[in-house]
Formats: sequence, C-alpha cells, structure tokens
Amino acid sequence: MTLTLVVPILGPPAVGKTTLTLALGDDARRRSFRLRDQVPAEVLAATAGTVERLGWIDTDIVGQTMRSYLDSLVHRDVDVVLMDNFPGSAEQVSLLLDTLAHSAPRARVEPIEMRADSKVLRKRARHRRVCQRCEKDPVADPRIPARSSLLDDWLCGKCGALLHFRRSDAPRLLEARTKRFNSSIGEIRAAFTTNGIDITILDAALPADRAIHLVEPMLNSRSTIS
Ligand SMILES: [Zn+2]
Repeated sequence: MTLTLVVPILGPPAVGKTTLTLALGDDARRRSFRLRDQVPAEVLAATAGTVERLGWIDTDIVGQTMRSYLDSLVHRDVDVVLMDNFPGSAEQVSLLLDTLAHSAPRARVEPIEMRADSKVLRKRARHRRVCQRCEKDPVADPRIPARSSLLDDWLCGKCGALLHFRRSDAPRLLEARTKRFNSSIGEIRAAFTTNGIDITILDAALPADRAIHLVEPMLNSRSTIS
C-alpha cells in the first residue's frame, strides 16, 4: 500500500465537491472515491425512494464498501484518495478512520470543507446539468456536472446529447439535502477534531479553477511526507 493521504471533500449541495474531486483526481497516482459508485445498484435504488431516505446507506454496507475499496488499492501505486462528499456522518468518520488504521496505517487524513453562501449555491444548482449518456449511473440518476457544448448550453460538449437538470437539484430535494448537510456537518467536524484532525476551509465562492490551484500544491507536498 503506497497510500499516504486521504482527502475527504465536504460541503453543502452544489458547492462544487464533485468538480473539485474529479479535477484533483485526474492523475495516475490519485483516485476519486464516490460511495455511490462502490455500492451495489440494488442498495442504491433503495436510497432513492423518498426525501427521508435520500442518500441513506446502511452503516454495515458503508463499512464493507470502505474495506473492500481500500483493499483494492493494496497492489496499486496510489498515493492520494479524494473522497467526494464522504464521510457524511460522525459514524462514517469513525468507520473511515478505523478502516484506515487497519488497511493503511501510514495514511494521513486531511479533510477540506468547501464553503459558499446560499446565493452562490442556489445559482450553481440552477446552472448545473448532467448527461445521461456520458454518465452511466446504475439507477439512471447522473450526478457529475457535464460541460455544455459551446454552441448550445443544453447539449453535452462531449457527446452532443441533450443535458438535464440533476434530479436531486429539484428545489424540494435540494432543500432537503441542504438541511441534512447543515444538521450533520457539526458532528462530522467534531468527529475529526476529536481524533486530532484539522479541517481546511476552502472558499468555494472562487471560480473552480482557482479553487483547484489552491488545493493542488497541498496534495503534492503532503503526500510526499513520510
Ligand atoms: Zn454526454
């Protein structure tokens, strides 16, 4: 295991977590972790039903998923894992730290919390679009922001298909997701702090490329500390 750094990327819906995670993870020695990519489709389907169950995944499954994901990195030259919107609760912080202590005891955890005011977030959610064709989501609920074609905002810049709003950006769901984030971030921060882990705050009102440039050197310098 060459893993030396794990970077949970946290923040409210539409703050730009996925965009940042994917941009930073675009490197041979880095990986981006998204919980929903790792759990079976039937588990995912069960979390999509109602607002109450939105994104909820059983703790045992999260634990198993973490373990098998980290085990899959054992024979790979991966230095950094970026975690998109994970952990999502104090319980998941403990799961992550316990699993790392067992599978990758040398790995440091350096969470980043992205922050922006509600006006910026609402604007981002309104402008965000996804591509059903480019992103083969197991329950047909694509999440990754798509780049529009230069000629037409509503066409995918990669494949030309018609883009859609992200399903969970619908006002009622966005509100529920924001509420859930606001009610859990306090316990997540506390769980990290209790374990002696500081959270870096990133001003996410900055344009995405500026935010990426701010974080990039941090990943390189910290991952080489042995
Ligand atoms: Zn596309």
